[in-house]
Order: sequence, then C-alpha cells, then structure tokens
Amino acid sequence: MIVMKFGGTSVQNAHFMDKALDIAQVRLSGTVVLVSSAMSKITDSLIAITNAAEAGDEETAMSLVEAMQERHISTARDFLTGENLEECEKSLITRFTRLSSLVKGLTLLRECSDRSRDALMAFGELFSTTLLYYRALERGMDAIFLDSRQMVITDGNFTEAYPIFELTNKRIREAVEVKPGRLYIAQGFIGSTEEGATTTLGRGGSDFTATIYGAALDAEEVQIWTDVNGIMTTDPRIVKNAITVPRITYDEAAELAYFGAKVVHPSTIRPAVLEKIPVSVRNTADAAGICTTITEEAPGEGIRAIAGKKNITLINVTSSKMLNAYGFLSAIFRVFEHHETSVDLVATSEVTVSMTIENTDSIDMIVKDLEALGDVKVETDKAIICLVGLNLWRDSAFTARVFSSIQDIPVRMISLGSSDINLSLVVPQDMIEESILRLHGEFFS
Ligand code: ADP
Ligand code: ASP
Ligand code: MG
Repeated sequence: MIVMKFGGTSVQNAHFMDKALDIAQVRLSGTVVLVSSAMSKITDSLIAITNAAEAGDEETAMSLVEAMQERHISTARDFLTGENLEECEKSLITRFTRLSSLVKGLTLLRECSDRSRDALMAFGELFSTTLLYYRALERGMDAIFLDSRQMVITDGNFTEAYPIFELTNKRIREAVEVKPGRLYIAQGFIGSTEEGATTTLGRGGSDFTATIYGAALDAEEVQIWTDVNGIMTTDPRIVKNAITVPRITYDEAAELAYFGAKVVHPSTIRPAVLEKIPVSVRNTADAAGICTTITEEAPGEGIRAIAGKKNITLINVTSSKMLNAYGFLSAIFRVFEHHETSVDLVATSEVTVSMTIENTDSIDMIVKDLEALGDVKVETDKAIICLVGLNLWRDSAFTARVFSSIQDIPVRMISLGSSDINLSLVVPQDMIEESILRLHGEFFS
C-alpha cells in the first residue's frame, strides 16, 4: 500500500492529471491511494468567490464560478470520451449547481462564516478528483472514488480543522481494501465533523491528508508529488541555486515546514512519525529525478536547510519584577493561552521577555493584559529565519558564520529551539530575502 499526493500544479490540466495517473500506474502491482489537491489556483479562486459573496457582489462571484466550471468541463473534454465524458460532465455539473446555489445564498445574506467558507472551499478538491476518477476509468484502471468528507473526521475548528484520529482511522480502514491493481482516488484538504459539516485542514492541507491516510493504512510510503525536486536547501523561488536535500529527519522537516517551507504542510509529519512511515517529496514533472526522503534518522549533521516566514510580530515585556521572581513567565504565557495565541519563539533576559507571534487577531487584548505585568513594546513587520540541522552547535564556527554573513542586518532576536535542531533569527520583514540569500551563500555555495 502506498499513498501518493499530487499538489495543485501536478493536476493543473489534463496532461498533468495523466502524468499523475502514469506515476500511480507504475505502483499498481500493489494498492495505491491517490490524494489530490484542487487544480492549481482553484482554491484561491474559491476564496475570491467567498469574499465577493460576502460583499454581496453576485456578478463577480458568479463569473468566477462560471470560469471555474468552464476550466473543469474543458479538461474533461480533453481526455474523456463517450460514457465516461457524459458521466463526468453530469457529476461536475451537479457539483457546480450546488456550488452556485451556495454562492447565491451567501451573496444574498452577505455572510460567510468559517463553516460556510469550508463548505465552499471543499469543492475544489471534489472537482479535481472527479476528473481524475473518470480519467482513471477511461484508462481502464480499477479505480474507486473516495469521499474524504466521509473518511477524515475532524473537530469543528472550521478552516483549520484537526482530525480525530480514532474515528478517522476506523473509517479509512473500513473503506480501503488491500487489493493489487486497485487505485483509490481521494480528496486532500477536506473532511467533516462528526455531525457531517464539511471542514478543511488549513491551506496546503492536502499533504496532511496524505499522511492521515498513510498512517491509518500503515502504508509502506507516503509520496508528496509537487513542482520541485523535493525539499531544497531553501525556497528555490528566493535562491535560484538551492539544491535538493536527499535525506532529512522528521524533526528537521517538521521544523522547516513550521517555519515557512511551504513544500510540506506543517502537520504532515506527525501521523508519519507515529507509524514510522517514510515520506518522500518528488517532482511530478521529473518523476525519475532526485527527491527527498524523510525518515526518523538521516545521515550527516550540520545545517540542512533554511526556511523563513513573514508577518511576524515581536512582543517585548520589560519588568523589574522579573528579577529573582518566580511565576512571572507563567503569568505572561497565561495571557497568550487565554487569548488562544501561540508563541513561536521566546528569549528572556534579566528583565525582558521577547516573544514572537503570527496570529495577531487578539493583539490589542494581549497587550492590555500584558501591561498589567510590565512595559510592553510591540514591533510589527518582522520575519523569522530558521536554520535547521542536527547538532548545529557541534561546529563552533557555525554561529560565527551566521552572524558574519548578515552582520549589517539588524537581528532583533535569536533563539535556539529546544529541539536543538534550529537556530532562529528575527529580522525586519523587508530584509528576509536578502538575509536568506546571504546565509544560503555562506553555507551551501
Ligand atoms: P503543491 O501545490 O504541490 O502542494 P506548494 O506550492 O504547496 O506545492 O509547495 C511547493 C513550493 O514550495 C515550491 O514550488 C517552492 O516554491 C516552495 N518552497 C518553499 N520552501 C521550499 C523548500 N525548502 N524546498 C522546496 N520548495 C520550497
Ligand atoms: N487546495 C488547498 C490549498 O490550495 C489544499 C492543498 O492544495 O494542499 O490550500
Ligand atoms: Mg502545498
């Protein structure tokens, strides 16, 4: 049993969908579960539709729906014939009719709760997998369409839902049978609550879906097929000469994902770790090319890759009360807990605690509560750069090289992750690219 996940660019048109099925076919001496994202740009477009609906702009919303329908129908016509084309068109049109009524309802109400957003966003993956399913039938494959809303049962945290593994594993194990030659086609990203309300796992969540299926089925391997040759030394969009990291540990990959390496969703690794399932990241356009394998252990140590994320806010709390006092830090963290805001990095000195957050929804209330504990300073427009690797500190020259390569960039905070596999730096947001370029040049060129 093997799980293969194809991202949006990997199913962007009929040609790529066929490539994805070619890749699956090679492994059909066993059973394959193919998890697919929506076609590229479709989820963004669904978000634009919800925004237009919320603003009461029916014309914009409906013209986007029409364009989306045209793209899917024309893809169906590109690679389907006869009964398969007929059935596929029928199925797509039924789904598009549902989408249109939902959009009209929301436009009328000018309301779009997170619950409604999820109901709407789920259509992207339902459309793409409908096309893949009928194409698989057209190619004579033994394909079964799985509705991930019936499989991945989540909490009710709409737009960022988290699976309830006990229920999810049970559903998946009941639905998927090990049978050589059998291809299951399932949607990434989507699930539903126990009551049956559609949920999504957060942007980029199809990677997570793949390891959810993989762990439930104790798969031999989970393969993430995307538009680059695996996890690279940094985002190849920032550094053109970034190179593939062939082997990496679960912890390192999780850290990179959490700190901005979009190539895998941050939750992806968790289910794989529990069952020790190897995860590989591969390029759909270069199927036989170099890739990354993520396992519990990986050879070598020292810096493996660099990630970065923007829109970080730095909060500093200064108080003389902290001197020799206990309970101060916990009082600070209670404020964040109370406002359900997670803190990424922390650094403390005798009298100051510095913390970074990403979600600023409750920032005003957080600051107000923190002011009861000390003087509070908030700095916005920051970015975190994260250097990841095993035993970074064993090389005594490592930190010196980091700081000398970015010596003229004002680093606002430094933190060594507790896992000892990352060094994180907070820099001004507009200097993130320049900092990554220089660090990459220092360590990888
Ligand atoms: P998919 O649609 O297949 O899920 P994504 O766009 O979500 O693809 O992720 C792939 C993209 O991640 C790449 O095109 C690349 O620009 C970006 N990326 C960011 N950091 C890295 C990295 N360290 N290695 C590889 N790709 C990265
Ligand atoms: N289609 C969703 C998104 O664009 C999920 C995914 O592709 O992983 O965020
Ligand atoms: Mg992705």
